[in-house]
Amino acid sequence: MLEIVFLGTGSGIPTPNRNHASIWMRHEGEYILFDCGEGTQRQIFKARLNFMRINRIFITHWHADHWAGLIGLLLTMNLEERRRPLHVYGPEADRFVSDILDLGYWGTKFKVIAEPVPYDGDEITTLVKTHDFAITSIPVEHSVPAVAYCFKQHDRWNVDIKKASKLYGLRQGPLVGKLKETGKITLKGKEITLHDVGILKRGVKVAYSGDTRRCENMIKLAKDADVLIHDTTFAEEVEDRMHTGAKEAAQIAKTAHVKKLILTHFSRRYTDLSELERDAKKIFKNSVTARDFMRMTV
Ligand SMILES: [Zn+2]
Repeated sequence: MLEIVFLGTGSGIPTPNRNHASIWMRHEGEYILFDCGEGTQRQIFKARLNFMRINRIFITHWHADHWAGLIGLLLTMNLEERRRPLHVYGPEADRFVSDILDLGYWGTKFKVIAEPVPYDGDEITTLVKTHDFAITSIPVEHSVPAVAYCFKQHDRWNVDIKKASKLYGLRQGPLVGKLKETGKITLKGKEITLHDVGILKRGVKVAYSGDTRRCENMIKLAKDADVLIHDTTFAEEVEDRMHTGAKEAAQIAKTAHVKKLILTHFSRRYTDLSELERDAKKIFKNSVTARDFMRMTV
């Protein structure tokens, strides 16, 4: 299960109701932020989340509306005597993290580890891999180096014991574990494969675009995702050609066969988002607009 809290759903200029970009995610003991725009720490407090638990922060690109909250958040972590290292990912993260830490008259007593993320080409890069999930990235198209991120829990095989017992006489025990691990076992001279008696449980998948115009890489990363969270700065991409419009985001969701599309990163000109949501829904039915402090579990 993945818990998601939208901390900021505005774009370059915030509004009284929309903070700069940031999304909180929790999966068991892993606490992460996708982007950390100005004011993110106050949004974390208001949402009653614990910022000290954050292990990793993924910055999609270094426009201030996506990272300017880092300084304040790091400072607060320091004042609260954090000692655990914090990983900060992003295109050219080494340069930007070092610049932030070099501002002078301050410094963190914990390690801030810069994790540079490739921002050229069309390859998916695995940034984090645990026994349970992976976090990957892919370059996207914006006015500066930018990437999109994806959280994906590994798919798991379960054995249909009733079926396995009926067909092969297999009972619950170490052999079932071996079957899950190796994909096949032999019992009383008969080969049993996961394909015969297994049920594939798909892991949760959530992709986040950051800022990008419509691009093929985003379709590749979001393929079959449960949730796609996508830049929707304007109604249409032609507004500035640096961001995606609601219609284009919906086309991406449709092509990538995702289950649900969440539009975010709105221009301040939209106080009412119903037009954007309607536009998106015409192309991809399961579209919704995000709002600050919106929560969901996947
Ligand atoms: Zn932005």
